[in-house]
Amino acid sequence: MTFLALGLSTHFATAATQNGYESPYPIQVEAIPAILAGKDVLGIAQTGSGKTASFVLPILQQLQHKKPAPNRHISVLVLAPTRELAVQTGEVFKIFSQNLPRPVKTLTAFGGVSINPQMIKLQGTEVLVATPGRLLDLVEHKAMSLAALDVLVLDEADKMLNMGFRDEMNRIFALLPARRQNLLFSATLGKDIDSITEMLLHNPVKIEITPPEENLDLIAQTAYSVSDERKGPLLRYLIQDRQLKQVLVFTSSIHKADSVVHKLKGNGFKALALHGEKSQGARTDALRYFKSGEIDILVATDLASRGLDIPALPVVINYELPRSPKDFIHRVGRTGRAGESGEAISFVTPDDEHHFKVIQKKMGKRVELTDTSDWNLLHAFPAKTAAKPPVFVRDPTIS
Ligand code: AMP
Repeated sequence: MTFLALGLSTHFATAATQNGYESPYPIQVEAIPAILAGKDVLGIAQTGSGKTASFVLPILQQLQHKKPAPNRHISVLVLAPTRELAVQTGEVFKIFSQNLPRPVKTLTAFGGVSINPQMIKLQGTEVLVATPGRLLDLVEHKAMSLAALDVLVLDEADKMLNMGFRDEMNRIFALLPARRQNLLFSATLGKDIDSITEMLLHNPVKIEITPPEENLDLIAQTAYSVSDERKGPLLRYLIQDRQLKQVLVFTSSIHKADSVVHKLKGNGFKALALHGEKSQGARTDALRYFKSGEIDILVATDLASRGLDIPALPVVINYELPRSPKDFIHRVGRTGRAGESGEAISFVTPDDEHHFKVIQKKMGKRVELTDTSDWNLLHAFPAKTAAKPPVFVRDPTIS
């Protein structure tokens, strides 16, 4: 199957290939023709399925044939639950808007930062990717109108509801014109999603992509038995010894994420934390520096990691085990995505052993537990450091 065969123009099919998309993912095979045909779509799919490009490509192609709406009238609105998802989606629009015969301007808007620059940038914007609260702020400031909206996309609708955005969503729906195309994406179905689906979508094309749980088969899992005090040295030892790059480390609390980063930095590693107490700027930067390879280690909490789009991570380390086995599977699933092999390493204290057995049972996989109590972590470390010291050239958190 090719992107051309789905109805995309040569321009967009080439752009997809140039971005490394050799062939369309299943959700793209189904969603692209439906969206190009102007149909409403209900997509049950998770991050990693390729859902973003499945709506970005046909939306941009459709815009090529339409006159721009009057200034400060948005043609396409994408609602996203979190700033991170909004930024990622906005980036995909921007990537595929390069060199368009008819230029399309996309703006990403989210709360936690000043509204004024966003209001100014709305000038000439056709595609707005926004979190619900900030969108309403912009409407209240009369910075833009939704009266000429052509396409509404609700991305990760289940998460938006879980995060308590129901009222905001209803207020936004009330501002939309009656005739428009509606695309709703959600990782799960349920009563709440059903009620929105019934209210918003007209004869939707339903696309259900089951998450590739079997991806776990491609992931090599290792577990190390380690005392709490030796976790830090073990982490540094593994990263140093194996020259690991692009390591996503999970902790269960914000405090622990910060302290792990502090220790790593103190030992010359390039690491940043990603959690809910970081400012928006720091979170966006951390993700960008991690993706571009300017930092090697990102230390994240579970909440902050949801919806992160970091394709094919080589290594994930569970510095602390999550309470829920579901979160464990979600964390491990950050590696080995889209057919790539990956590695997940878990640190297990003696107190965790029973819980780790429960996790393995839920996951349906046994993971060998290696004792590290006689590993000479401190001895091995300086010798390697002397040979190849990790140098932190610039702290990207300081601008
Ligand atoms: P998403 O589910 O939209 O967050 O996409 C997950 C990842 O898959 C992103 O890194 C995309 O760049 C990538 N991706 C999307 N479609 C394709 C494709 N057809 N071929 C290869 N990679 C893709």
